[in-house]
Amino acid sequence: GEALAVSARVAPLGSRLVLLLVEDLTEARRIEAVRRDFVANVSHELKTPVGALSLLSEAVMDAADDPEAVTRFAGRMQIEATRLTNLVQELIDLSRVQNDHPLEDAEPVRVDELVAEAIDRSRQTAGTKNITMAAGGTTDLRVWGHRGQLAAALGNLVENAVNYSPAHTRVGIAARRVTAPGGDLIEIAVTDQGIGIPDKDKERIFERFYRVDPARSRATGGTGLGLAIVKHVVASHGGEVTVWSTEGQGSTFTLRLPEAAAGRDRTQDRRTPS
Ligand code: ADP
Repeated sequence: GEALAVSARVAPLGSRLVLLLVEDLTEARRIEAVRRDFVANVSHELKTPVGALSLLSEAVMDAADDPEAVTRFAGRMQIEATRLTNLVQELIDLSRVQNDHPLEDAEPVRVDELVAEAIDRSRQTAGTKNITMAAGGTTDLRVWGHRGQLAAALGNLVENAVNYSPAHTRVGIAARRVTAPGGDLIEIAVTDQGIGIPDKDKERIFERFYRVDPARSRATGGTGLGLAIVKHVVASHGGEVTVWSTEGQGSTFTLRLPEAAAGRDRTQDRRTPS
């Protein structure tokens, strides 16, 4: 309807322009649909824990003379409150990585520090599941970027590796320098021996709120936003993230990021803010 009306109006200007305008309109529609979906998803994700909290608080009041029940309900309230806190924090992180210009604060960031921080963040969960985390090849490598955002990206990948793996498995983090035409890259690969990802979902897991198994994601405290954050961070750094996975065997997520070359400093590299 609308697209056709536009093409009729601009038809005399040439078919190339018509095509561009129609494509623009389609793109604008797509963006609008994605935005609407996102708002609907956020509302749903917020309503679920808030609804549960409200029911549970009523249950606590009704069970006032049954201390055991009160304790049980309070425990569940704590889980819902944690879920809510995680979601709000990840929403803030996502909006930050979408709106910031990370390269304005870029600096050389040591890969061994990023890796140590990511491992630290998942140490507790890994410990309770008896998962071994091991890193290799990180010495002397530095990436060029925003320290906090890079730490969030790698931290999310390691967290997922631990969350989607059974007990007594291994999570490996391997880094290396790769020669590329546009300047050397640093590759950081996170490998797990976990449940893996079906082929049909591999593209979509980077979308906001997309989960292969929503119940499983929620059970581990997942929000469905982690990989969307990772994708935004690497994109704004001029890098990429890829996934290799076999169902039931494990997954490898690989980050490719620009290297901070020796002697490179922030004055030389500071981009003009646009
Ligand atoms: P979540 O908070 O659900 O973990 P993410 O955006 O980090 O959200 O990941 C999206 C989905 O991708 C997860 O729900 C899970 O289904 C899948 N996924 C991510 N990492 C892994 C992994 N290492 N192994 C298996 N599945 C994974």
